[in-house]
Amino acid sequence: LGGRISRALQEMTNATVIDEKVLTACLNEISRALFQADVQLKMVQTMCTNIKKIVNLEDLAAGHNKRRIIQQAVFNELCSMLDPGKPSFSPQKGKPSVIMFVGLQGSGKTTTCTKYAYHYQKKGFKPALICADTFRAGAFDQLKQNATKANIPFYGSYTETDPVKIAQEGLETFRAEKCDLIIVDTSGRHKQEAALFEEMRQVAAATSPDLVIFVMDGSIGQAAFDQAQAFKQSASVGAVIITKMDGHAKGGGALSAVAATKSPVIFIGTGEHIDEFETFETKPFVSRLLGMGDWAGFMDRIQEVVPMDQQPELIQKLTDGNFTLRLMYEQFQNIMSMGPLNQVMSMIPGFSSELMPKGREKESQAKIKKFMTMMDSMTSAELDSTNPKLFAEASRVMRVARGSGRSVRDVTEMLEEYKRLAKLWSKMKGLKIPKKGDMSAM
Ligand code: GDP
Ligand code: MG
Repeated sequence: LGGRISRALQEMTNATVIDEKVLTACLNEISRALFQADVQLKMVQTMCTNIKKIVNLEDLAAGHNKRRIIQQAVFNELCSMLDPGKPSFSPQKGKPSVIMFVGLQGSGKTTTCTKYAYHYQKKGFKPALICADTFRAGAFDQLKQNATKANIPFYGSYTETDPVKIAQEGLETFRAEKCDLIIVDTSGRHKQEAALFEEMRQVAAATSPDLVIFVMDGSIGQAAFDQAQAFKQSASVGAVIITKMDGHAKGGGALSAVAATKSPVIFIGTGEHIDEFETFETKPFVSRLLGMGDWAGFMDRIQEVVPMDQQPELIQKLTDGNFTLRLMYEQFQNIMSMGPLNQVMSMIPGFSSELMPKGREKESQAKIKKFMTMMDSMTSAELDSTNPKLFAEASRVMRVARGSGRSVRDVTEMLEEYKRLAKLWSKMKGLKIPKKGDMSAM
């Protein structure tokens, strides 16, 4: 008997056992989520080993926020995995530099080249684009079209088949024109894989780029590491851009790309258009990877501003992902009653940043009021519709304009805003929003 009691006592005082269990369970759950988000299995394992070293079991035993402590540790660990420890080359205005883009066909190179050029053009650079992809039919036309739209000089050839020659000629042309950011787009496919990498080696040797950017499709999955490594070995990759982050991809392959290239992610692509391009920010990216968003803060804010009995409804609507005009109307009402920038929607990244830029609240409120009057002229069916093509009928737009005494252009502007917000909203579809309390003691 004595033995049994002392054993039980021993177990009771040895509280860390329980917390180790909590830690393991929690890490298993997070690992599963990360693996599903395309983080390489090996990296998930390394992360868990590191976390177990970092997280102090005594803190867990004493603290009530076990889950939060572990989640924070995971968050920090992922952030540091995305940080290769050295910044990438950064172009300087007026100082000519050559940037070479590499990546598999379809990864988004050509699109991203133009986005990159446009980004720097807006900052006052004089960019230029060279199409050194002679493999893909129509490659030059595609680049030409993109470049023309953005008013960026371009170079390429319909007849020359040697990408090295095109790259060299392009460089000469644009150096003479005093361009300070010369971008070389390359091929992403060959009859033989080895030939592609040999070609990258040759183009790199001929152009001596200041920076080689590896472009990777965010939804590439577990193949990311090998792909990034292969390009790193043929051209000395110094930065990574992850594309198609507007889709469902969580982008876990970014961790692999950083590990394989020992280079930072510098931008992400968030759509097919030239301005759907964002400077990479580690923390929001990791939040998304973990499926967290800024949900902790978001939930706190919801508790503050939405009446308790309406919260489940809002959360339901958020995760449904169906953003109707009526829902937009309701959110506008919220915004108006709560005062600008002190409302729930401002917690959703991108939601109110454009709708209500800081310092321009008065104008924004006027705009929202205008939008709401136009929406007052819509039918119930229109407000509740989930058919995005409904307002493709010009007669509807005209009726709403007439009914509200506004111009067709005003109505169109409101519908554009609706589309933008609906797109942001749709990203929340299916996200798990922790209920208050989930974040603390497990
Ligand atoms: P490349 O073969 O590597 O040059 O790839 P492209 O630039 O031709 O892009 C392949 C496809 O991906 C095209 O249809 C692009 O419009 C699309 N694309 C590129 N970047 C993005 C992005 O960030 N989001 C979305 N949704 N599509 C993209
Ligand atoms: Mg291309």
